[in-house]
Amino acid sequence: MSQLIDPFARPITYLRVSVTDRCDLRCVYCMAEDMTFLPKPEILTLEELDRLCGAFIDSGVRKLRITGGEPLVRRHVLSLFASLGARLGHGLDELTLTTNGTQLARHAEALARAGVRRVNVSLDTLNPERFTRLTRWGRIAQVLTGIFAARDAGLAVKINAVALRGENEDEIDDLVAWCGRHGFDLCLIETMPMGDIGPARADQYLPLSLVRARLGRRWTLDESGYRTGGPARYVTVRETGRRLGFITPMTHNFCEDCNRVRLTVTGTLYMCLGQDDSADLRTPLRRGEDLHAAIAEAISRKPKGHDFIVGRSAVTRHMSVTGG
Ligand code: SAM
Ligand code: SF4
Repeated sequence: MSQLIDPFARPITYLRVSVTDRCDLRCVYCMAEDMTFLPKPEILTLEELDRLCGAFIDSGVRKLRITGGEPLVRRHVLSLFASLGARLGHGLDELTLTTNGTQLARHAEALARAGVRRVNVSLDTLNPERFTRLTRWGRIAQVLTGIFAARDAGLAVKINAVALRGENEDEIDDLVAWCGRHGFDLCLIETMPMGDIGPARADQYLPLSLVRARLGRRWTLDESGYRTGGPARYVTVRETGRRLGFITPMTHNFCEDCNRVRLTVTGTLYMCLGQDDSADLRTPLRRGEDLHAAIAEAISRKPKGHDFIVGRSAVTRHMSVTGG
C-alpha cells in the first residue's frame, strides 16, 4: 500500500467525507435559511462513495469521518457505515461521525454495530429557546435524547460547540460543567468565514484565546498532549477530569501538521478547508479510470495553509459542503 505525501512532506491519513449537503437544521453561522441544495444527478450514490473511500484507504488513509450537511438525514446512510466499517482493521483504523444529533436516537445502536466508537455531536447551547434560535427551528430535547442514546450504545461522545459572540459566550462555563457531569469531552470552535450566511460574520466571531482566559478563572486547565488526529489542541479540566479542546483556525493557524483532505458528496476533493482549489474525482470514478492516480495528482496540489481573515469570506462555499 502506498502512502500519500503532500508537497510539504505531510502524510495524508485522514479523510472527511460529506455524504449530503442537506440538513434538517439551519444553524445561523453555517447556512442561510433559504439554502439551495444539489440536484440528485450531481450526488454520488452510497456505493460510489464507498468505492471512493476504498481508494483513499488503499492510498494510506487510516481515519474516516462522515459528515455533511447532516449525514444521518441521508437515506440508507447506515449501509455506508456498514460497508466502511468492514474495512476497519484492513487499512482503516477509525470510522467516526459528526452529527447534529437529531437522528442519533434511531441510529446509535446500528452505528456502534458498524464499528463506530466515537461521535462528535454539535451542541452550542443548553438553553432550549436559544437552541431553537441558533438552529432556526431545532428542538433541543431531540438532540439530548440522541446524545444519551449514543452514550448508552457505548459510543464515546464529544460535544462540539461554536463560540459565538453575544450568543453563547455566557454559557461556555455551563457547557464545561454539563459535559463533565455526563462524561463527555468538549471541543470549542472559532467561527470560520465560509459562505454567505446573511448576518455579518464578524459580529459572531469570538476568539478562543479570550474564552480560554475566562474559563481559567473558574477551572484549572492542565495542558495535555492528547491528539485525535484532528486540528484541536486539548487541555484537561482538573475539576471534571474531562478533556476540553480548542479549534482555533483564526487565532492560531493549525496548518503546519495538517493530515486531512475533504471529499464532498459530488466527488469533489478539497485539499484545504480554507482554499478554493479542488479536484474532480467523480469523472474518473464514473468513467472507471484510475482513482489512485487522480487522488495522488490532487494531493500533489495541497496548499501550505488557509487564508482565513476575520469578517471576510475566504471561500464561497458553505461549511455544509465540506462538513468542517
Ligand atoms: N450537521 C453536522 C453537525 O452540525 O455536526 C455535521 C456538519 S457541520 C457543517 C460540522 C461542524 O461545523 C459543526 O460542529 C458546526 O457547528 C461547524 N460549523 C458550521 N459552520 C461553521 C463555521 N462557519 N465556522 C465554524 N464552524 C462551523
Ligand atoms: Fe446543519 Fe450542521 Fe450546518 Fe447546523 S452546522 S446547519 S446542523 S450542517
